[in-house]
Amino acid sequence: MMAARTHAEPAPTSLGGGEPEPAIPVSGGRVTADEVPERLAAVRRRIAAAAERVLRDPDEIRMVAVTKMVAPEMIVAAQRAGQIDFGENRAQEFRRKLAVIEPPVAWHFVGRVQRNKVADVTGLAQLIHSVDRLELAEALAARAQRDGLRQRILVQVNTGLDPAKAGVVPEEAPALIERVRELSGLACEGLMTVPPLAADPRPLFARLRALRDTLRSRFPEIQQLSMGMSGDFEVAIEEGSTIVRLGEALFGPRPLKPA
Ligand SMILES: *Cc1c(COP(=O)(O)O)cnc(C)c1O
Repeated sequence: MMAARTHAEPAPTSLGGGEPEPAIPVSGGRVTADEVPERLAAVRRRIAAAAERVLRDPDEIRMVAVTKMVAPEMIVAAQRAGQIDFGENRAQEFRRKLAVIEPPVAWHFVGRVQRNKVADVTGLAQLIHSVDRLELAEALAARAQRDGLRQRILVQVNTGLDPAKAGVVPEEAPALIERVRELSGLACEGLMTVPPLAADPRPLFARLRALRDTLRSRFPEIQQLSMGMSGDFEVAIEEGSTIVRLGEALFGPRPLKPA
């Protein structure tokens, strides 16, 4: 294995002008691979402190390091510091990362899945966080059955009723989950949400938790709450999150925001 290298390239200033997109986008240049272990440790301490404030066991909370736009050496640095769960949000970048990152790794897919991309994620992501419609669930289930596996998923809920965000509206989540449970290629384990940037996330996290609690009384396998990102993960943990998805808190600012 190579030693961790620092990453000194400047952020790309533009992707226009006919320049080919780099094979794997580089990180912003402000955080280097040798800083990753320390940042990881700091985030783990913040997770533990948030859990302890509400008398939760920090070990109940899984942290997924979201590596979109993050260079492979940053991921390797996190692996060396003991991180195993990593997440991507675009099928194409996910495929490229899969090809270069060696075990031990548990991949999560947290972005929108197009129906024609189900083969890029099924069986490759341990957990798909972002199932928000029956047609997608059916396509994933068909692929999983074809491959002889059971794909673990979460249903994404648009708790903020934000037209710009993916997710089923909360009122329709129970019906979707009832249908998804009947698909033998899938195992639905819980709910995920991404609050709108401008909203106070706490009531939205509380709403997701209440929805999970109602569903769990009928379907005991509905346990997970994937909620909380770099800006709000402590609030999410106070509201019951079991999976936080963190990018910038670990790897620094991204050079580009996905559209
Ligand atoms: C990018 C992304 C994250 C991580 O966001 P940060 O603000 O960098 O922590 C979490 N969840 C999803 C769905 C994402 O796309």
